[in-house]
Amino acid sequence: MSSEPKQESDLTLDEDYPEIREAVAKLCTGFPGEYWRRLEGQPASGSYPDEFVAALTDAGYLAALIPEKYGGSGLKLRAAGVILETIHASECSGAACHAQMYTMGTVLRHGNEEQKREYLPKIATGELRLQAFGVTEPGTGSDTTQLKTRAEKRGEHYVINGQKVWTSRAAHSDLMLLLARTTPADQVSKRTLGISTFLIDLREAVGNGCEIRPIDAMINHNTTEVFFDELKVPASSLIGEEGKGFRYILDGMNAERCLIAAEAIGTGRYFIRRATEYANERVVFNRKIGENQGVQFPIAKAYMHLQAADLMVRKASALFESGRPCGAEANMAKYLAADACWEAGEACFDVYGGFAFAREYDIERKWREARLFRTAPISTNMVLNYIGQHVLGLPRSY
Ligand SMILES: Cc1cc2nc3c(=O)[nH]c(=O)nc-3n(C[C@H](O)[C@H](O)[C@H](O)COP(=O)(O)OP(=O)(O)OC[C@H]3O[C@@H](n4cnc5c(N)ncnc54)[C@H](O)[C@@H]3O)c2cc1C
Repeated sequence: MSSEPKQESDLTLDEDYPEIREAVAKLCTGFPGEYWRRLEGQPASGSYPDEFVAALTDAGYLAALIPEKYGGSGLKLRAAGVILETIHASECSGAACHAQMYTMGTVLRHGNEEQKREYLPKIATGELRLQAFGVTEPGTGSDTTQLKTRAEKRGEHYVINGQKVWTSRAAHSDLMLLLARTTPADQVSKRTLGISTFLIDLREAVGNGCEIRPIDAMINHNTTEVFFDELKVPASSLIGEEGKGFRYILDGMNAERCLIAAEAIGTGRYFIRRATEYANERVVFNRKIGENQGVQFPIAKAYMHLQAADLMVRKASALFESGRPCGAEANMAKYLAADACWEAGEACFDVYGGFAFAREYDIERKWREARLFRTAPISTNMVLNYIGQHVLGLPRSY
């Protein structure tokens, strides 16, 4: 018999955190579809769901992952996933603020004590918004290690030049986590080295070498382009050691994948609920449309795929929480949840027929939002690349 102590599993198979689910669902009833539709009609300056973000902040949900010693609730990753899943299972969207939950993880795990004391309690109360994460660049896209934004040490400062794209919420955030090269790619032994992570104070940066321009996008995501032209930031903005920033953001990315996957599960559940309700009430040819297998089966299939993806989301979250490697599971969770969500969205869209196009039903809005899960924060193809190479041992294909 093995003398190894039995490891307790964090994997819960029942409906976990029922109190959180109930409380979040109740909060969301205050922000019906009409609220979100009205925001979509606004120019970029007025499209941010301030009241919704304030309600989540006041209830402490955005501080779920900040330890109690820094003013947060110190909950597990899975609890944060349940919060986001529940938000997305309602008419609401967590996209306007989900990064407030996980972007601080890089500061928490790799920042020094002074940085943690200075920022985390204020992020926990919502006094400071850390919702922007600048990784993607127009010229290099998914090839993150080739990013061109440069941070050069000059005395007690770094001077930043370059450009980011799709930096969501930058115009509504006080702080931004930024990935920039501190050593040119041709001077490092490994392409992941020479990249550093900075915590930029946007309140000081904007207008002093940093410019933010909104992108007119298909969904209300408050996403932007960010330009850096000789932006001078104090050397104390560096998180951890210079040149090791890529490694720091990798574990944060696994947390992000688990949480975004939970959002996709929530959105999928929204579609299944709406599709089932409508299929049970809409009568055409003198019978409920749900009596037709052509209507019923796609909903049933999407439901099964969603349930299976949910198990992977729970597994990935449990591995992350126990500090074990979870790159494969986090990627698979994100892929499977995004796919199942999209399948549920398509089924729901079909069930509603022409009415799916009518904005007042919210199906088209949720469907547009669901498309993003397949593209960001990592595209479906890049997950397949990861599984092929790192899990199956196939040759690197790119
Ligand atoms: C609404 C929105 C919000 C976003 N928010 C943020 C954010 O806050 N911060 C941030 O940093 N980024 C953000 N992103 C960026 C997002 O992460 C990227 O769009 C995504 O990672 C893909 O990068 P890209 O758009 O440059 O596509 P590209 O890298 O140009 O790829 C284009 C297509 O080619 C495929 N492809 C490329 N190379 C390969 C390969 N080797 N094998 C197979 N397929 C390949 C990709 O899968 C993709 O389908 C956001 C994007 C959107 C649309």
